[in-house]
Amino acid sequence: MSNQRNVPRRWIQPDAIEEALRAGRPRRADPGSTPVSGMRPPARAASPAPVDGPILPPATIGILGGGQLGRMLGLAARELGYRVVVLDPDRQCPAAAVADRVEVGSYEDAVAARRLARSADIVTYELEHVALAVVDAVAADGVPVRPGRLSLKVTQDRLEERRFLESIGAPVAPYRVVTDQASLINAAFQLDLPLRLKAPTGGYDGRDQVRIAEVGELGNAIERLGRPTGTRLLLEKELPFDCELSVVVARDLDRSVAAYPPARNRHDDGILAESVAPAPIREGVVARAQDLAIRIAEGLDAIGVVTVELFLLPDGSLVVNELAPRVHNSGHWTIEAAVTSQFEQHVRAICGLPLGSPALRGAAATVNLLGTGRRRAARLRGVPDALRVTDVHLHLYDKREVFERRKMGHVTALGASPMDALETARLAASLVRL
Ligand code: ATP
Ligand code: MG
Repeated sequence: MSNQRNVPRRWIQPDAIEEALRAGRPRRADPGSTPVSGMRPPARAASPAPVDGPILPPATIGILGGGQLGRMLGLAARELGYRVVVLDPDRQCPAAAVADRVEVGSYEDAVAARRLARSADIVTYELEHVALAVVDAVAADGVPVRPGRLSLKVTQDRLEERRFLESIGAPVAPYRVVTDQASLINAAFQLDLPLRLKAPTGGYDGRDQVRIAEVGELGNAIERLGRPTGTRLLLEKELPFDCELSVVVARDLDRSVAAYPPARNRHDDGILAESVAPAPIREGVVARAQDLAIRIAEGLDAIGVVTVELFLLPDGSLVVNELAPRVHNSGHWTIEAAVTSQFEQHVRAICGLPLGSPALRGAAATVNLLGTGRRRAARLRGVPDALRVTDVHLHLYDKREVFERRKMGHVTALGASPMDALETARLAASLVRL
């Protein structure tokens, strides 16, 4: 640690909801006190002033990707008076409704991305599966891309992500790189079952990974994953976690950071089903999770929001599962239940504006509305019933088609406790039929 480093001043997140509600806003930590969580100014006293000034409204934000994350990012940008352009293969993508223009093109289409960048003052991405060449083309045209190239490069490849996490001393599940049946068997013998075999690129919502619970499942695991032989695959130990957590952290151009309170997440067959905040975990775990997330955002030199998915193990230790250099499904509760939503926070950070407080306003839970059945035109029913439930906020993404496990919307409920909020959110979500 350099002697230039400031004594970190962080915003303390009150540990009890009641206290948070009574206090109304977060307190500044006494510089001498033990920081608990949240927000702190630059790590270095002599942090260089940002080279670029703030990108002020009504500047235009270009978003690579027009899914629901782009839509909610666009809504937050609009509130602050920004204009929005979006690159997406689908002209009718969820973000189209909040965009001044949709540039139709794939996430590999550098030509379309450059067309987008011509009308943008800053470019960001709502998914990590954007080709690096696209980001390079935009940056070469002089338009900043944030959170940045390194964040994208590291997080779009699980093996690269492992190397990064190990380089900063972040704990990860025991793993091996395998390329064929022989190396798979050998690694499985070393790691022991149960295991997860994951493709390094392209996976999301539990796709592109297979579970290996029994020896008999080793035989066709590579085949089930469906990647060409010789592809480098990640084989990792399945961990018997107590619960899954995630921390959304923001870092701005001044290198200040703000970590939200961890959410506790429940996945259903690899896809996020529900999140509660604040996670009902010990204060010490909260602080460790936030510190880890801040270290990761700093290691990536990210400007914007980064999400860190964690496993909390029975012995109280934390293991990093996955990183996302962006706003995240497990942070949707911040729209209603944090002083600054993750979407506004990302806009602030990438535009060179001061970060907002990540403090909780109260307990909240988010339940995803996931499609079921075959691919067909979406026809939502039960919306009025869901809206009759008190303290519920319904978010629909306006996707034209529904299919099995497609994220169609979410419900966030507020409550006296995270579990109360979860009960309410589950009730409202159960009333919406997709
Ligand atoms: P995302 O939608 O978060 O991008 P993904 O498809 O990239 O998901 P992961 O986050 O790696 O995949 O895994 C999805 C879920 O599968 C995890 O949240 C967890 O519930 C389970 N899982 C994955 N790896 C492990 C593991 N090593 N041990 C235990 N559970 C695991
Ligand atoms: Mg994940």
